Amino acid sequence: MKTADFRALTPEEVVARLKEPAPTLICFHTRPDGDAVGSAFALSLWLGAMGSSCYCVSADEVPQYLGFLSAGLQESVLPESIPTGFENARIVTVDTASPAQMGSLFERFGERVCLMIDHHGMGTPYADHLIVPQAAACGEVIFDLIAASGVDVPVRVSELLYAAISSDTGCFRYSNVNENTHLHAAALVAQGIDTAEINRRLFETRSYQSLKAEKAGFERLRFFEDGKIAIITFPYALQRELDVREEHLGTLIDVARCVAGVEVAVAIRGTAKGDFRVSLRSNVNFDVAAVAARFGGGGHVRAAGVTVSADSIEQAQDKILAALQEVL
Ligand code: AMP
Ligand code: MN
Ligand code: MN
Repeated sequence: MKTADFRALTPEEVVARLKEPAPTLICFHTRPDGDAVGSAFALSLWLGAMGSSCYCVSADEVPQYLGFLSAGLQESVLPESIPTGFENARIVTVDTASPAQMGSLFERFGERVCLMIDHHGMGTPYADHLIVPQAAACGEVIFDLIAASGVDVPVRVSELLYAAISSDTGCFRYSNVNENTHLHAAALVAQGIDTAEINRRLFETRSYQSLKAEKAGFERLRFFEDGKIAIITFPYALQRELDVREEHLGTLIDVARCVAGVEVAVAIRGTAKGDFRVSLRSNVNFDVAAVAARFGGGGHVRAAGVTVSADSIEQAQDKILAALQEVL
């Protein structure tokens, strides 16, 4: 890949590029979250309003709890469902900081991405980009682009962007929230969207399977460094045994994070491929993205992720724990 050729674009340059109508594939990261799905479909509707046909695509399907975001817009986001007419499409990614986050899509589309719109401070750019680390969510970056374009978009866009922002801020609770985050949210609320319902779906609803996973995760919660580090390991065999899927494991990290005294929380899940998916969260001013970056991952100061290979989940835990102990 020709890293040196990638340019940081201004918002004006991005708007100018996107105003050119063209069939567009909008890619977002594996194990999609509310920011990825909300940003992608908001971008899709905005580009649609400017005359481009769009298709949102990810290596993993939209999880059930986020189905309300894509409902009525697309049946599926899997690459198998890309309609005809997108063979030579322009490819834009949202909320996707590194090639690794594109998963299997990177092999197929990675070289052809012409624009990445993102907000991760720690990542590996793979195309010309607009990356705004001060933005709490990629949805904020999309919001500003839409505003700069002066194009009228449907109210659905406001719902999608609000969900994107609320999702990445834990309902406006995390340290990534700033004045702009609230100003963006206020402008979206002014469109008459049902924020209580969006937040109920995002934060007040758990599938029975997620709760089952949390219960098992709680039993596997271990503490290190006088309770400053909390780690939950969740072997792939346990996923099979409980009949839960990867999409039910996203809240395991919250079980570890909320315990009093915990400064850094870690959740490690075994995957079907035999490697290990690691989520890191910091309750203090400790840069977990820097730790993730040591293993090839990235993210934000207080929320980061990486996939590591190891012979066993215990070995994966030892690797992460050693890296944390070195810096903590
Ligand atoms: P997760 O624990 O998977 O929810 O990830 C936490 C945060 O780190 C999210 O903002 C992710 O987008 C980001 N992240 C996860 N994996 C990577 C990676 N390989 N490179 C850069 N950022 C990542
Ligand atoms: Mn995301
Ligand atoms: Mn995000």
